[in-house]
Amino acid sequence: MTINLAWSGGVVMTTGDTVVRFDPQTKKNLNSLNFFSHSHQDHIGGLNLRSENYMTFGTKDILLFRENNGSERFNPLNYGDKTRVGELEIIAHNAGHILGSAQFEVRSPNMTVVYTGDINYRNMLTTKAADVIPCDVLILETTYGFPNYIFPSFGETCVDIVNWTLGRLTAGDLPIFQVYSTGKAQEIVKIFNDLTRIPVLVHPTVAKVNQAYEKNGVKLIYTRSNSEEGKELLKSKQCVFVGPIHYNSFPPQSYSLATATGWVLKYRSSKFSGAFPLSGHADFRQLVDYVKQVKPKQVFTIHGNQEYFAKYLSKKLGTRARPITSVEQKPLQEYL
Ligand SMILES: [Zn+2]
Repeated sequence: MTINLAWSGGVVMTTGDTVVRFDPQTKKNLNSLNFFSHSHQDHIGGLNLRSENYMTFGTKDILLFRENNGSERFNPLNYGDKTRVGELEIIAHNAGHILGSAQFEVRSPNMTVVYTGDINYRNMLTTKAADVIPCDVLILETTYGFPNYIFPSFGETCVDIVNWTLGRLTAGDLPIFQVYSTGKAQEIVKIFNDLTRIPVLVHPTVAKVNQAYEKNGVKLIYTRSNSEEGKELLKSKQCVFVGPIHYNSFPPQSYSLATATGWVLKYRSSKFSGAFPLSGHADFRQLVDYVKQVKPKQVFTIHGNQEYFAKYLSKKLGTRARPITSVEQKPLQEYL
């Protein structure tokens, strides 16, 4: 049996009459079978109610709480669940990126393909490191696939976050984190919950996603900023505030801003007095380790530093690799 691979604003695999898309970015392709790796906006652009959409329970819960979107055409999966699509079998595995993030293993009689979505290959407080799935063909996200992106240890970054916050509180400033409201915000809340006794105040947008995490067994302790209790807490300045990245209705009292993303290793805005490389993505070293563990015959890189990382794998690891955007539609067997 032949599987054709193509890039068309998302990964497309075709075998016989069966067309499967992974993280399609447009809604043009109706009536196909769509698999969504996680709930970040840049991965769900192709969600539409005329197609069958597959995603994990965690992803479905985030869409429900964050966007009040709980369509019956969102077919929920547990990690390990097998979905039969024509002659293919598709299995969801943990990707370690945010709640519900999945890698998809595609099994056919003659090869196994893995599409990682966004992956994180180390344990954090709200997610566990991505599973390693041996395969013939690995379609790998390479957001931080450049040697400049080496993150400090998770523990070191947590200590830096807590120390900065304590310093701001001691100085009489309200510490405010401006971070992605899905994934990063919950990790920040959990860091303060588990490592300190500092009360955590969250923006309503963050609180919506928190509910999805709590439903899936991640305990988070926080107060909504729009509640009466939250307003009192804000006035007291004896708390840390966690808001979305575009939050800009700052309170009248003095405050200090922080952000947390892997991009602070490259870009630094002067508005942030705290900038922490806390990432839900694998850094360069983790990506290399991951490929060594998986041992694929062919890698297709996707996102970010896809050109550089593909060349690195070919030259340093001797693994055949190329950016997926350079793929012309042809049978995957021809790459092996
Ligand atoms: Zn993501």
